[in-house]
Amino acid sequence: MKGYSFYSILKHGMRRKPRWPAAWHDVSPQRSYDAVIVGGGGHGLATAYYLARTHGMRRVAVLEKGWLGGGNSGRNTQVSRSNYFWPESAAFYDRSLQLYETLSHELNFNVMLSQRGILSLAHSHHELETMRRWANAIQVNDVDSEILSPQQIKKLEPLINLDTRFPVRGGFIQRRGAISRHDAVNWGYARAASALGVDIVQNCEVTGFDLRNGEVRGVETTRGSISTERVCLAVAGHSSQLAARAGLRLPITSMSLQAMVSEPIKPVLNTITMSAVIHMYVSQSDRGELVLGGGADVYNSYAQRGGLPLLEQNVAAMLELFPVFRGLRLLRQWAGTVDISPDTTPIMGLTPVKGLYINAGWGTGGYKAIPAGGETMAHTIVSDSPHPLIRAFGLDRFATGRLVDEGAAAGVAH
Ligand SMILES: Cc1cc2nc3c(=O)[nH]c(=O)nc-3n(C[C@H](O)[C@H](O)[C@H](O)COP(=O)(O)OP(=O)(O)OC[C@H]3O[C@@H](n4cnc5c(N)ncnc54)[C@H](O)[C@@H]3O)c2cc1C
Repeated sequence: MKGYSFYSILKHGMRRKPRWPAAWHDVSPQRSYDAVIVGGGGHGLATAYYLARTHGMRRVAVLEKGWLGGGNSGRNTQVSRSNYFWPESAAFYDRSLQLYETLSHELNFNVMLSQRGILSLAHSHHELETMRRWANAIQVNDVDSEILSPQQIKKLEPLINLDTRFPVRGGFIQRRGAISRHDAVNWGYARAASALGVDIVQNCEVTGFDLRNGEVRGVETTRGSISTERVCLAVAGHSSQLAARAGLRLPITSMSLQAMVSEPIKPVLNTITMSAVIHMYVSQSDRGELVLGGGADVYNSYAQRGGLPLLEQNVAAMLELFPVFRGLRLLRQWAGTVDISPDTTPIMGLTPVKGLYINAGWGTGGYKAIPAGGETMAHTIVSDSPHPLIRAFGLDRFATGRLVDEGAAAGVAH
C-alpha cells in the first residue's frame, strides 16, 4: 500500500496534472474464494481486512450491493464509547475503542478520532442513583467513567440549560468517548484490505446461497455464482431477509434511524452530550455542524428516510437542552435501516448452517464496534469457533435465554 504522507501529498500536489492512484480497486468477482463477506459496510470491510492482515487469507471478497459505506456505516453520528453495563459488552466495546485509538496509524488513513468525552445526563435523583451504579459497574469493568455534578457539567458545557422541564441533577462522563469520521473508517479499511489483495466488488447483490447437506458451498449473486465454503453476513438492516434465504429465522427487526445536522457555526460544544430522558444526543463536527440523533422510528421499515415526527422531536429535545441554538437552521437529514435485536446486543458468530457466519443486530450502536467486530469475526471465520470476546453474543442465546440486556446503555441511539 502506498503510504499517505506529507511528502506524497506535496509531490502529487506539485504536479501540473496530479494523478492520484485509486484508493482501492473495484474488481469483477472471481468464480471462487476462500471466504466471501456479504456487505461492504464497516463490519464487512474490517472483517476482510483482519482476515488478510492477521490471518494471511488472501482469496477474500467483499460483495456489496450498492456502494461502500452506503449503508449505516456512512450514515451514523460517529459516536464511539465503551461505557456498557455488562462485563461481556464492556470488554468487547473497550477493545474496539482501543483499536480506534490507533486506527489512523494502523490504516495509514486519518480517521479524525476526537476523544472529547461522552456526557450522559440524569434528570432526577433516582436516575442519578441508577447512573452512579452504572458508572461504578463500568469502573469495575476497567473502563473510565466519572460522576459529575450540575456545576461540573455547566463548566464543561457552558451553553447547556440545566433548568429543563426535568432539571439536570448530574451526569456521568466517559472521557475517552469519541467521534471520528465515518467515511474515513470505511475507506481506510477498504484501502488497506484492497492493498492486501482482498477483492472489493460493488454493485453485486447476494440473492441466495448454494447449500448442500447443511453446509455452505457458495453464493448466488446478481453477477453470477461464486463458490466458497465460508460466508459471513454483515448486512445490518437486511440481515433477517438474507438469512431467511439460507433457511434461518433471526430475531431482528429493521427500523429507520435518522440523524440530522444544523448549518455550521464556530466551535461551541465540547463534548458529545446525551440525555435518555429528553431523548437526544448532540455533538459538533469538525465542519462546525451540530450533529443530532435520537430514537428510531416507532414502526418497522426498510426506508432510508425517517419520518417527520421523530425529526421534530429530536430538534425540540435539543432546543430544550440548548435553547441558545433556536435561531439555527437545519441543513440536512437522513436515515439508515438498523437491525435491532431483542436485548440490543449484537448477534455474532456461528449459525446452524456450517460455514455461514453472522455479524448483525448492531441496531443503533454498531459504528463504535467496527474494529473489534472485524477483528473477532475474522478470528471466528478462520477457527470456525467464536472469538472469546464474542462468545456471549451468539445466536444460541435466544434458545438458552442467556441474554445480554444492554437496553439502558443503548437508551438513546448512538
Ligand atoms: C442515523 C444513524 C446514527 C447512528 N449513530 C451511531 C453512532 O453514533 N454510534 C454507533 O456506534 N453506531 C451508530 N449507528 C449504528 C451504526 O451505524 C451501525 O450499527 C453500523 O454502521 C453497522 O455496520 P454494518 O457494516 O454492519 O452495516 P452497514 O454499514 O449498513 O453495511 C451493510 C451493507 O450491506 C449491504 N447489503 C445489504 N444486503 C446485501 C446483499 N443482499 N448483498 C450485498 N450487499 C448487501 C448494504 O448495501 C450495506 O452497504 C447509527 C446508525 C444510524 C442509521
